[in-house]
Amino acid sequence: MAAETHAMDAPDATARRDLAVRAAVEQGLVGGAEGTPPLVCLLDVAGIRASAAALTAAFAAAVAPGTPVLHAFAVKACPLVPVLRLLAELGLGCEVAGPGELALARAAGVEPQRTVLDSPAKTVAELREALALGIAVNADNRQELDRLDELVAGAPPRSPVGIRINPQTGAGTIDALSTATATSKFGIALRDPGAREWLVRAYLDRPWLTRLHIHSGSQGVPLSLIAEGVRDLHALAEEINTAAGRRQVDTLDIGGGLPVNFASDAETPTYAQYAAALREAVPALFGGRYGLVTEFGRSLLAKHGLALSRVEYTKTTGGRRIALTHAGVQLATRTVYAPAAWPLRILPYDAKGAPKTGPPVPQDIAGPACFAGDLLATARDLPELAPGDLIAVPDTGAYFFTAHYGYNSLPRPPVHGFRTTPAGGTRFTPIRPAQPPASLVTEAGGDFRDALL
Ligand SMILES: *Cc1c(COP(=O)(O)O)cnc(C)c1O
Repeated sequence: MAAETHAMDAPDATARRDLAVRAAVEQGLVGGAEGTPPLVCLLDVAGIRASAAALTAAFAAAVAPGTPVLHAFAVKACPLVPVLRLLAELGLGCEVAGPGELALARAAGVEPQRTVLDSPAKTVAELREALALGIAVNADNRQELDRLDELVAGAPPRSPVGIRINPQTGAGTIDALSTATATSKFGIALRDPGAREWLVRAYLDRPWLTRLHIHSGSQGVPLSLIAEGVRDLHALAEEINTAAGRRQVDTLDIGGGLPVNFASDAETPTYAQYAAALREAVPALFGGRYGLVTEFGRSLLAKHGLALSRVEYTKTTGGRRIALTHAGVQLATRTVYAPAAWPLRILPYDAKGAPKTGPPVPQDIAGPACFAGDLLATARDLPELAPGDLIAVPDTGAYFFTAHYGYNSLPRPPVHGFRTTPAGGTRFTPIRPAQPPASLVTEAGGDFRDALL
């Protein structure tokens, strides 16, 4: 009876993961048999849908009725066309940082009016294309604004155009990812001498500047600090509009950067908590005077990705136990080079894809690359791994296996989406193929073989 009731419940993310790992082995996507791929990456479609719905719902509940809101997914977090297509289907747009990401967004069918271009080093050609398409552009610096002046040359552009500001509210716990420090490379530094006056003047001189942009959150940045930046952005918009005597700035692009919990399956903080933090810091933000754009990446995808590798060998060296796997620096670059900032969980499964149990033994989880530091975890307490077992690396759906690093000519691993059926089965859909050797050869200049003779 109890088992029946349980089977009726939709499985949660943890249960879906266990079902998917077992099904991936059963269906030959990964495993120990010769000829079976040693490494596969999986994306949980139900999880992605749930995160997109949570984001949309949190803002829909917070804003005054009729307030335009665009959630532009930061493509760099998961640059896979089928994922962008799914998110577009769920009502999201795209935030792109250059021609590659723009091409992906367009291939996914995302309309220009739902696309935002944000790179700090846009070329004239990129700006020209964005303006021709009507894509929103956020200028990063004064010289970029000069270029826009020339491109706009009197005629108001079709594109909404804004300026990115750096509120200089301070760093989070990861320096390389903190965008709002006093000396950050991004945007116009709001607290530098004269900057505020220059910004107000820049808007008054250019009636076509209608947006303000900030991206002050990131992994390691607390919600209160993100909200402080948005508060400063809002105050600047009010100041510009007062000086202009009209609602010249009509849209605030508040960026992304909701941190992700890498320590457990809990999805915290939530979008609802984020919206509540904004409401507390900037009560007027949701009042309907401004349309809103968000640019979330990591928080939409991270929890829904899983890398799954076979344990190829195990050894003990100088008393240190090491499992040699196929999941290394090529898919977890940040963890390998900055392990303290980017710890990942390792979940052990047996050769049949069942969760592996047993007394914990400290083990290093090593990748396949030829350098000593290629480790996903050190002295991690896990049931003793054996060749043919699998390790799953959860929370890798953003910036990990989709931000491939080409060391040792390791190929991009295949990615499959998965859906759990009501009967507890798992259906896989290929999203990205395994990179074949011929593609690696082409990337490595194979077509120019004799060029240096
Ligand atoms: C990377 C980036 C984002 C997304 O950041 P997440 O931490 O993945 O949410 C949004 N906006 C800009 C401008 C970015 O560079």
